[in-house]
Amino acid sequence: MLDEFSVGKPAGFPDHPHRGFETVSLTASLQRMHVTRVPHAVQVTYMLEGTFMHEDFKGHRGIIGPGDLQWMTAGKGIMHSEVPMSDVKAHGLQLWVNLAAKNKMVEPNYQELLAKDIPKRRYNGVVANIIAGSAFGVDSPVHTMTPTMYIDFSMEGGSTLKQAIPAGWNGFVYVLEGSGVFGGHKGVAHHTLVLSNDGGEEGFTVTTAEGKACRFALIVGEPLNEPIVQHGPFVMNTREEIMKAMTDFQSGTNGFEGAAQWSSEGGKTFH
Ligand code: FE
Repeated sequence: MLDEFSVGKPAGFPDHPHRGFETVSLTASLQRMHVTRVPHAVQVTYMLEGTFMHEDFKGHRGIIGPGDLQWMTAGKGIMHSEVPMSDVKAHGLQLWVNLAAKNKMVEPNYQELLAKDIPKRRYNGVVANIIAGSAFGVDSPVHTMTPTMYIDFSMEGGSTLKQAIPAGWNGFVYVLEGSGVFGGHKGVAHHTLVLSNDGGEEGFTVTTAEGKACRFALIVGEPLNEPIVQHGPFVMNTREEIMKAMTDFQSGTNGFEGAAQWSSEGGKTFH
């Protein structure tokens, strides 16, 4: 699930829990649709403008600024707060990546990369910020429990990109700015193009018209093919596991110790 957020003070996402993660299964042939928008955040936060302050119930704190990445594995439980710090609106992308059943109860973990630590490569009029996976022969240092490729591409007008995608993976393109032609289908800003997963050695091709630049995120992953039951911030495999997550959160057990009593600094303006 992907959310393009643009949040200014005094709005934000104060204290809330997470367990497990959500994905959107994207199949069928390339087609255009509106992006799913949810008034809620998290897992992978990639800032475009502005800054967010992040705090969690274990004392982890940080500020995420333009071009920075936070890859948070909620695993068995995170209680956290994400609120804008900057006067300009905090604008970015938040993606939820599902975890396989065997990984849902892992210890929470963060991978935080500043903009300068995200590999960037330029080739034939195309700049790739390699957030996860690889492009132009360069690998991201981010470790993903669910095999995932996440690349922020900026193409000059009149350029062509061929990007390989592992066979059988599902994914989509989310156009951030401008327009381009993706496998023969036009994509414009704030629209999603779902990629077919019939793969092929060629991967997929994107072209831009002369004078028309395009910036987009390519997000693909290996399908888990497991049942998904989602309720608010909890993403599990069965309804029973969702009930368990709610009870664990309320009783402060199995990863949510102290969560209910915790309150963030940033969230105080909300109380
Ligand atoms: Fe969150």
